[in-house]
Amino acid sequence: MSPSWNNVRADFPILHQQVNGHPLVYLDNGATSQKPRSVIDALVRYYERDNSNVHRGLHALSTRATDAYEGARARIAKFINAADPAEVLFTRGTTESINIVARSWGHAHLKPGDVVLTTEFEHHSNLVPWQQAAKAAGATLKYVPLLGADGEGGPDLAALDQLLTPQVKLFAFTHISNTLGTINPVAEFCRRARAVGAVTVIDAAQSVGHRPLDVQQIGCDFLAFSGHKMCGPTGIGVLYGRRALLDQLAPDETGGGMVVQVTYEGATWKPAPERFEAGTPNVAGAIALGTACDYLDNLGRDKIAAHDTALVTIAMEKLSALPGIRIIGPKKGAERSGMVSFAFEGVHAHDVVTFADEDGIALRGGHHCNQPLMRKLGLTSTTRASFYLYNTPEEIDRLVKSLQRIQKFFAG
Ligand code: PMP
Repeated sequence: MSPSWNNVRADFPILHQQVNGHPLVYLDNGATSQKPRSVIDALVRYYERDNSNVHRGLHALSTRATDAYEGARARIAKFINAADPAEVLFTRGTTESINIVARSWGHAHLKPGDVVLTTEFEHHSNLVPWQQAAKAAGATLKYVPLLGADGEGGPDLAALDQLLTPQVKLFAFTHISNTLGTINPVAEFCRRARAVGAVTVIDAAQSVGHRPLDVQQIGCDFLAFSGHKMCGPTGIGVLYGRRALLDQLAPDETGGGMVVQVTYEGATWKPAPERFEAGTPNVAGAIALGTACDYLDNLGRDKIAAHDTALVTIAMEKLSALPGIRIIGPKKGAERSGMVSFAFEGVHAHDVVTFADEDGIALRGGHHCNQPLMRKLGLTSTTRASFYLYNTPEEIDRLVKSLQRIQKFFAG
């Protein structure tokens, strides 16, 4: 049975407020999602009852905090179907997760003449770390082209085959583009990369909270995501790494909690996950992220994906009818994730966002950390409306009305 989406709204306290005299319409979920009561309660409960440092104390609170922290790791492993909780490393978010791989794996494995492959539509967080790693190693960074004047054709799969030579040591790509809404065939990408012996890194920031995700079925080596885009807190995220790779990897950061023995001459490392979690971790964040996994799986991520698709299909239909609009990314709602990025002829995205805010609607305008992609499409910025489980068709109507008001103002 499908959840009642209107009841879902009751779980999110922040949604029940007026902004500029209008009920809030929150359509900036690509940037960060709102938090259900259960996640907020998990944070408060931890600080009220269990707050203590993990892995170091023998007292009751420390044991409780450690059990809850490790319980969250096991919960998240189940959420992405990792074979072993030790394959789940807690980080600050997608950006840190990708940087860890770029620095640790890149430093150990990349050499002059090697190729790192990515796509033309990556978030800066899955682009700049690879530029840095390639530069440091004397390797070359290459890009799988994006097809279509509006980026509607997705990745060029024929070009991918040409680019995937044995020189490619690593292929890093997004699961879902945060600007285009393109959904990449990630299992297929991994299969092709494996055929040339390349390690795969997936940026799952926009996907893991929106649709079922199974790292074993996808067959990736690394996968990164952020808690705050999937109903969890900010400041917590995950790097999934296949155990065999993590065991060979040197830590990026060193310090307390990740060592077995330290002498004045040197130190030895614990195995994963501790090896990669130097210092006091974000215990409350990790626990509340586990709660977010419960929340999403209780609703059903397949149902959330269907809800996203239903909303984006309505939005595509209604927005396409507006004069002078240019929508980028896949043309059909069914082929994209729950977001729409668009440009209005003669109206800057920042003006669109400011006007929509007057109507109580939260949108995002700018380059969306996709500057090279914007340049490729001949744009400086777009406006993005991004949906999640608590959004409704009525909110899309409010968006359309607001956009009509904006167009009228600028036409006059
Ligand atoms: N990748 C993608 C596709 C994203 O949408 C984002 C967030 N906008 C990131 C990476 C970076 O995530 P974070 O800022 O949480 O590290």
